[in-house]
Amino acid sequence: MSGANGGDLLEGVVLAPAVSPAPSAFSSLSPCVHCGFCLQACPTYLATGDEADSPRGRIVLMRALERGEIAPTDAALLHHLDACLGCRGCEPVCPSGVGYGRGLETARAMLAKERGFRPLARAILTVFGRNGLWRTVFTGARWVRDLGIAGAFAGRGRQGFGMAMIAATKPGRRAVRREADRPIEGDVRRPASPAGPAVALFRGCVMDTLFSHVHEATRRTLLANGYRVIDIGGQICCGALHDHAGDREGAITLARVNLRAFANRADYVVVNSAGCGALLKDYGHLLGSSEAEAFGTKVRDVAELLADRGPRTGGVLDMTVAYDAPCHLQHAQRVHDAPLAVLRAIPGLRVQLLPGFDRCCGSAGIYSLLEPAMSRAVLDAKIRTFVEASPPPALVVTGNPGCLMQIGGGLRAEGLPIQVAHPVELLDWSYQTGGVYGKASDR
Ligand code: SF4
Ligand code: SF4
Repeated sequence: MSGANGGDLLEGVVLAPAVSPAPSAFSSLSPCVHCGFCLQACPTYLATGDEADSPRGRIVLMRALERGEIAPTDAALLHHLDACLGCRGCEPVCPSGVGYGRGLETARAMLAKERGFRPLARAILTVFGRNGLWRTVFTGARWVRDLGIAGAFAGRGRQGFGMAMIAATKPGRRAVRREADRPIEGDVRRPASPAGPAVALFRGCVMDTLFSHVHEATRRTLLANGYRVIDIGGQICCGALHDHAGDREGAITLARVNLRAFANRADYVVVNSAGCGALLKDYGHLLGSSEAEAFGTKVRDVAELLADRGPRTGGVLDMTVAYDAPCHLQHAQRVHDAPLAVLRAIPGLRVQLLPGFDRCCGSAGIYSLLEPAMSRAVLDAKIRTFVEASPPPALVVTGNPGCLMQIGGGLRAEGLPIQVAHPVELLDWSYQTGGVYGKASDR
């Protein structure tokens, strides 16, 4: 495919009887005028230079799919839509307001119905759909990490990179963490107001196992800023991985369980994973009910809640960090300044916004497992910015588990002495350093 409007797009593709969804299903793509402003914001286009790997090219493909001019089993169509990260980096730069994400979601659900799922995708989605399975898998991964096996076998090859990603989940600043991981109840010098908003923590799957230290930091920092943090049982994976892969039914099943678990139990539902937060906020669209819509309005990223309260200032952390904006926080949730407000509450911290800090890292849910070559090509471009930074950052800070693992894995695979951390981890360390939680002798 080539050309501004994809005029020769259909050369050689299989024409098929129309298998189209409802006529309005792709309406979010209608405003596209093929101007091409989105091309330079698209990581896959930048990696391949192929128009069909750009937002504009994929919109042409999706419209042809809608009209039944391309078969949903067409190999070229599948290749180029599978290669899309779903990062939505093309949306904010589009002057016509094209809703690319909604269109991709519709196309993927349609393709999933027609061709089913690739075996690896099916296996992964099955694991994430059952609490017992993902907990077993990630608990095993945690052992592999804690025994040092992941770090020892980290490398650039496919298996080595998987180990590097697991090793990257290791909590940073271990000495500080030992002190910080004390029980949270009553360990804050300024106690939470009894009248403070009640916040229910969304635990998730990867976050609840490999990143449980981020949950602890989330609880402590919210408590220190006047929120009452409550635990809700009966939660399950949010369904974002299913939704992005086109498994709408799987996502809806999980969403219904969460809706029941959280029903009117708190003022806010707090999330520290950008990918989960984006879908939880969008449950109204997914489930099409007023109850789900109301639930979505209560969901907040942890950075949003902290920024609403200032947040209170911590102790000095004299270090340089690079902030990397998760796609599902900035593009899907439109949250830009709150994580930076969290970092600004840390005296002495120098925050870099390096070129491409707002561009996808190539993680994209299960994309890095299904499309490893493109995922690594996109990641390599980002890793280069850390290598070239002057001064080099001590840490890369980002608020999504997939990004933490992808960027952290890439840094380890390259042997770079740069760690990764969630913004609330840094605030938590700063609160430790500044005595916000009280000294051990005060407890
Ligand atoms: S999606 Fe928007 S920016 Fe991209 S070609 Fe269409 S109108 Fe232009
Ligand atoms: S979602 Fe991301 S990868 Fe897909 S077309 Fe848009 S910018 Fe490119």
